[in-house]
Amino acid sequence: MANRVFNFSAGPSALPLPVLERARDELLDFAATGMGIMEMSHRSGTFTKVIEAAEAGVRWHLGVSDDYSVLFLQGGASLQFAQVPMNLYIEGRPIDVLHTGVWTKKAIAEMDKVATYRLAGSGEKDKFMHIPRKEEITLNPQASYVYMASNNTIYGSQWRAFPETGEVPLVADMSSDILSRRIDVSRFGLIFAGAQKNIGPAGVTLVIVRKDLLEHARTSLPTMLQYRVHAAERSLYNTPPTFAIYIASLVMDWITQQGGLEAIERRNDEKAARLYGAIDESELYYCPVERDSRSRMNVVFRLKGNDEALEAEFVAKSGKAGLAGLKGHRSVGGLRASIYNAVSLEAVEALIAFMADFERARG
Ligand SMILES: *Cc1c(COP(=O)(O)O)cnc(C)c1O
Repeated sequence: MANRVFNFSAGPSALPLPVLERARDELLDFAATGMGIMEMSHRSGTFTKVIEAAEAGVRWHLGVSDDYSVLFLQGGASLQFAQVPMNLYIEGRPIDVLHTGVWTKKAIAEMDKVATYRLAGSGEKDKFMHIPRKEEITLNPQASYVYMASNNTIYGSQWRAFPETGEVPLVADMSSDILSRRIDVSRFGLIFAGAQKNIGPAGVTLVIVRKDLLEHARTSLPTMLQYRVHAAERSLYNTPPTFAIYIASLVMDWITQQGGLEAIERRNDEKAARLYGAIDESELYYCPVERDSRSRMNVVFRLKGNDEALEAEFVAKSGKAGLAGLKGHRSVGGLRASIYNAVSLEAVEALIAFMADFERARG
């Protein structure tokens, strides 16, 4: 595949090449039906097998028990910012929020429309350069739930361990690190993730929700916004994003072929360790995020002195060298390498080599 670049885009982002090749091969004729998956009824037996395989893959890789429903919804992670409080907020019991950056800020803006909340921990005064430490978190045992983002795609920070919330359900936006490492799902009341980082293409949103929480919502909520409806209909209340779910099912197979989440996690650790190592050792680059809070998915870095012209040159030259998507998010500037599951160690090594060349050329 001579014309494929090393893709460090934050999302939508790189997909595994074998997944794309298989989708290409099956595009016109899926499972000898004489039609593509995009062209067939979502109620067909053929598609039913696909969505069941996608769900089984998620359950297997993350160890999701029967106490949870696995849903494939639409509206992106951003709709979950509203849908979660609409379904899980209990009147008079403010949501406890752990605020770690742009994505929790957006979630706060949505919960503020339909619920009350309280900041139980925040990294804001340190410009989100570290995850709130244990002693900086105060949880209310009466909260409706605790809300957090497990990985902060824009600031490049990530929770290593999750807070202990006792009887209070823990809700996590895992859009940018789901399936990148093993987690204990039983610690969570609800997990959601837009697909376009580690699951598949944009257009489908994974929601894993504890079944006892399904019944919290008012039945007067719009039907499409009630988790209970989607759970009862196995994500087939209306037409789901069939192609995106199909690709997600292929990604689940690919994870199995890679050796499962344990192997994926080991490789992700290795990729991140190498890249942060190269940044820390260099005279030109630095990582502004505190060491124990650094993300293994989104490596945020800058050039010393925050020389924006030189950073722009880095982005332009790396692009010409076949390394795409290294510009930092527009809200924070700098540089960012997103090294999701489908980004290979080879890609990370190519980036490290380019960084060294760029540094050498500066003298
Ligand atoms: C990408 C991302 C989102 C936004 O997802 P959409 O599907 O575009 O709504 C939300 N939260 C996190 C942590 C993300 O990385």
